[in-house]
Amino acid sequence: MNKFKYNFFTILVYFAVSTNLRADKLCIPDKSIIRQQERYVSLLAPYVQEKINFSFPVKQCECWVSSLYGKRGTGFHAGVDFAALKGTDVVAAADGYIMKAEKSNAKNGYGNMILIEHEHKKHTYQTRYAHLDTIEKKIYNQVQSGKKVAVKRNEKIGTVGATGHVIAKHSTSDPSHLHFEIYKDGKRIDPLLYLFASQTLRTKNRS
Ligand SMILES: [Zn+2]
Repeated sequence: MNKFKYNFFTILVYFAVSTNLRADKLCIPDKSIIRQQERYVSLLAPYVQEKINFSFPVKQCECWVSSLYGKRGTGFHAGVDFAALKGTDVVAAADGYIMKAEKSNAKNGYGNMILIEHEHKKHTYQTRYAHLDTIEKKIYNQVQSGKKVAVKRNEKIGTVGATGHVIAKHSTSDPSHLHFEIYKDGKRIDPLLYLFASQTLRTKNRS
């Protein structure tokens, strides 16, 4: 009986691990992300040197780049938009502390939003996650009660949504996306520079 139990357990572990591995391999970034990464290569060197490890806030196989950082029409788009299905997980890009977790029904602004602060080599970085559908309950409640809330890189903090100021390209299309910003010492930087630099760094460290 014990032997049977042991074998059953082994098979279960085997399937759990192999399914996970397969899912990992299937997580191929959207072409819009690969195309952008190729364009950024020559710009990455100084950001790789900062050696800060930012993860994509949405899995690369679950999103695509729908709007870049920089001039947009007559204005300036201060972040990068990752379009994804409503309800897709949003994770913290790096270890840090939650500075803000706000809910808003207003049709302008960031909508439901989280701001995280990350300390790294005497610099302060911040990451902003806007237009969220939901914010993790535990995080929201703790922030409201004035607690200092720590988060880990890749920890789920909410889900992709369409709160705040979002525009659908067509009347029938889903406008859900994550608006993501990175600040270094209070200054906004193109988030893709840090995301691609971190990825380069991780690949280097592995080899
Ligand atoms: Zn945006």
